[in-house]
Amino acid sequence: MTGKATRFGLAAAIVFCLLIPQGAEAAGFEKNGRGEGERSKQEERRLAIVIDDFGNGMSGTEDMLQLPVKFTAAVMPFMPTTKQDAEEAHRRGHDVIVHMPMEPNKGLKSWLGPGAITTDLSDDEIRKRVEDAIDNVPHAIGMNNHMGSKVTADERVMRIVLGVCKERGLFFLDSRTTYKTVIPKVAEEIGLPIVSNHVFLDDVYTEQHISKQITELRKQLKSRGDCVTIGHVGPPGKKTAAVLKLSLPDLQNEAAVVKLSQMINGSMSDPFVLPNP
Ligand SMILES: [Zn+2]
Repeated sequence: MTGKATRFGLAAAIVFCLLIPQGAEAAGFEKNGRGEGERSKQEERRLAIVIDDFGNGMSGTEDMLQLPVKFTAAVMPFMPTTKQDAEEAHRRGHDVIVHMPMEPNKGLKSWLGPGAITTDLSDDEIRKRVEDAIDNVPHAIGMNNHMGSKVTADERVMRIVLGVCKERGLFFLDSRTTYKTVIPKVAEEIGLPIVSNHVFLDDVYTEQHISKQITELRKQLKSRGDCVTIGHVGPPGKKTAAVLKLSLPDLQNEAAVVKLSQMINGSMSDPFVLPNP
């Protein structure tokens, strides 16, 4: 910006401030349609970026941690770099949540990693595994599911998982790996704050697909106040971090990029937390 433009901008800002009647709030001013309506819409939209699968020294870990926005790092428990990744994410101001391995409908149990929740476990064993996982991930303030299309559709199991989260003061992010999820229903019954994923960024590991998902995300941002998107370290990690970095200026024009904890806290006036598709 040239010096002239800066001076003009400053002058315009001063005039704008003087035009607001004393005591009137800027937000109210804009909502009355006398200000920049589009800008007030942008201010109401919030985007939370969640990056899954930290904890195993995965590809793209450093690229993600260096993104110029605060996001939410979902860290798997009991893995070689669980503590290191959680500490590093926390040190840089990102939110840390437990990325809880949960049994899917299809796939091998060996993909799940240690301490996983499966539907054949007893009530006591499920409770113990969730408590141990929370204890294993430093700075965890929430939890989401790694895989879990079978477990998140099982009411007995999710009642225990979400119950432990509530006791420990953690919120839950439903990654929505199945349309049959019981998480919103059970969370409402027990009064646990939840949020739900809207867009998976990198289920296909190409930059072309990730860019397409960013376009979908921008579309969803226009139709909702709040949006959650999930990307991954691991096979797509470096590509996802690169596309995100390039897309951030556009995304930040359309929404405030926030951590999940900010989205949850901003919705506390609701009986339980939105968004909830
Ligand atoms: Zn995962």
